[in-house]
Amino acid sequence: MSDSPLENMPFDSPLQPVKLSLQDTIQFRCHKDIACFNECCKRIDILLTPYDILRLTKRLELTSNEFLAQYTVPYEIDADGMPGVKIRTADDNLACPFLHEEGCSVYEDRPTVCRYYALGLMAMRKQDSPTDEQAYFLIKEDHCLGHNEPHSLTVDQFRQEQGVDLYDEINHEWRQIILKKRSAGAAIGKPSPRSFQFFFMVCYNLDSFRGFIQSDGFSDVYDLTTGEIDELKTDDVALLKFGFKLLKQVLFGEMTIPVKGDAMQKRVYKRREEIKADPDDPNKDYEGPELI
Ligand code: SF4
Ligand code: SF4
Repeated sequence: MSDSPLENMPFDSPLQPVKLSLQDTIQFRCHKDIACFNECCKRIDILLTPYDILRLTKRLELTSNEFLAQYTVPYEIDADGMPGVKIRTADDNLACPFLHEEGCSVYEDRPTVCRYYALGLMAMRKQDSPTDEQAYFLIKEDHCLGHNEPHSLTVDQFRQEQGVDLYDEINHEWRQIILKKRSAGAAIGKPSPRSFQFFFMVCYNLDSFRGFIQSDGFSDVYDLTTGEIDELKTDDVALLKFGFKLLKQVLFGEMTIPVKGDAMQKRVYKRREEIKADPDDPNKDYEGPELI
């Protein structure tokens, strides 16, 4: 079971070269009594989405820092170093750490990639297009006997069975940000190291992001009501969705969150002064817009 940035399919996976739509029919069934049960979880390479991390940290009753430290490794989504995270496996054993004798120990909160398998999702965005397109592909790996089961269903029914709609809906803006950065290419340029740190915090470390939105640095710049801040303090999904909006504002200038007067300009000026004063600042060669 594998994942690449937006296509949960590895390059060495036996992908079927037929693009599937939601209405196309596949033959597949996975169940506890199948001879290959758990085989797909014994050699994994799984990228986690922001909502995957949110669900797993709640399930395991960990802080996001604890979860990241115990169960993940960093990963670069693209050549510019856009950060992602994968599930960590042992050096000598590629089995998923959530795999127990009786199966997946986090089944109700399993990641998006696990839900999609044996389908691969490919999200594409043409340059300057406001929307992305999705296509599905069947992944047929020798160890997976689910393809031999006499059970046919449409891609749409499979997605519903696996409960991926909610995951895709919440992660949609995250995928958009990655696709937009990729399709914009030189128009946006390489984000600064600080931008990548910010992206990492918003997408994967919600506890730190929650601390950030309660900081003076945030309230000096952004004009949110007390009610809005209170919701972000207590509602993880609302916080994640707000984070995606904030990332779009910071990275692409899509202004949807009210800013206080000229606070942003002052903040940018202050940051540039700080960077100038520190010859070792990793952002010193960066010419684009600054983070708050
Ligand atoms: S999270 Fe569960 S379903 Fe996914 S690889 Fe691990 S054990 Fe398998
Ligand atoms: S049928 Fe495929 S997905 Fe299901 S347990 Fe077997 S290898 Fe894994």
